[in-house]
Amino acid sequence: MELEDIFLRVIKSGIFRNRDILKPDYIPDKLPHREREIRKLGGILAPVLKGSRPSNVFIYGLTGTGKTAVTKYVTRKLVETAKKFNVNVKVAYVNTRQSDTPYRVLMELAESVGVKVPFTGIPAAEVYRRFIRGLENLGATLIVILDEIDYLVKKHGDDILYRLSRTNEILSNSEISMIGITNDVRFSEILDPRIKSSLGEVEMVFPPYDAVQLEDILSERAKKAFYEDTLDDGVIPLCAALAAKEHGDARKALDLLRVAGELAEQEGARKVTIDHVWKARDELEKDKVSEIVRTMPFHGKLVLASIYRLQMRKTSPPTTGEIYSEYRALCERMDTASLTYRRISDIINELDTLGLIEAQIVSRGRYGRTKIVKLNVQPKIIEEVMLEDRYLEGILQ
Ligand code: ADP
Ligand code: MG
Repeated sequence: MELEDIFLRVIKSGIFRNRDILKPDYIPDKLPHREREIRKLGGILAPVLKGSRPSNVFIYGLTGTGKTAVTKYVTRKLVETAKKFNVNVKVAYVNTRQSDTPYRVLMELAESVGVKVPFTGIPAAEVYRRFIRGLENLGATLIVILDEIDYLVKKHGDDILYRLSRTNEILSNSEISMIGITNDVRFSEILDPRIKSSLGEVEMVFPPYDAVQLEDILSERAKKAFYEDTLDDGVIPLCAALAAKEHGDARKALDLLRVAGELAEQEGARKVTIDHVWKARDELEKDKVSEIVRTMPFHGKLVLASIYRLQMRKTSPPTTGEIYSEYRALCERMDTASLTYRRISDIINELDTLGLIEAQIVSRGRYGRTKIVKLNVQPKIIEEVMLEDRYLEGILQ
């Protein structure tokens, strides 16, 4: 396909009214099926409008359950109301996956109260002092949102959380209140109990969406994102059903719909069809798999290749033991020393966490319990990605 053709088709296409509405960072004015969470978080923060410090909140939930969207939505409305009533409230939003050092976090907090801090060159403790000074000058209540907070803590420990949770003790003219957000439902297990109790004065859990709820969410956003009558009937239900299988991830559902629309546009189609959705699914899956596989250590790739080979050969899902023998055979073929069973078992768990495979513990009667493993992505995608790696060429056969 000529590039110029694509450009022209996109220009002429009458599919997207506004594609940006489907982007992950767009906050819509309506968040269906989160009314309860919006009301609850709003209720927790409301006292700030009458000058008292809101409780700290901890929000848990799987990815794509609307935690970031709801938090930004509620705090945005809160600031609007505060302005109307002349209440001094500020909000600092920090995503610690992006700002992944204590220094960067403190720098952003300082900037949120109007204090400029250089990228490097001063000690973190000094950045903290400047932040405090800036906040005291403002005399405001600052709502600090620490999103994807597990990234920071796993890398750098929880010192900064401890420090922030004690900050009110040294403030006299201002206050801070914290909202911690994590996709990692087991995060609280790694937190120091003192920090846990102070950060989680109130805890909220966001449940995953089901397929019907995802349909509502998509329909609402599609109204503004697409021109009328550009989506075939099955399109939204299919995007919703596919995302519901991925633990009800709204981001996934929106990505599918957006990419399906883009594919239709590039083809010069008049409508988005379910074929476009299936193609979008493949494309997104391939992006995800190739990103993971590209950065995976060599033995991780060998383990993935072993699982692929076994799945192609056998009807029943392989056990960890079978994967290990297959892996050893591959190592021999590649003239590489193999890692221990223990290491391979760890790698299998990592592949599970990354979503490339699904591992399940099953009972084998008097033989005890064992783990069986299935690919969680289409085998053809694994093939396509592995074939791009010239060291692995031929290893799948
Ligand atoms: P999380 O922070 O829990 O991972 P997000 O809040 O980022 O999830 O939501 C993922 C995507 O789905 C975002 O684009 C968000 O706008 C959208 N989204 C989530 N819940 C809803 C909802 N109830 N209505 C409309 N869009 C939603
Ligand atoms: Mg989020």
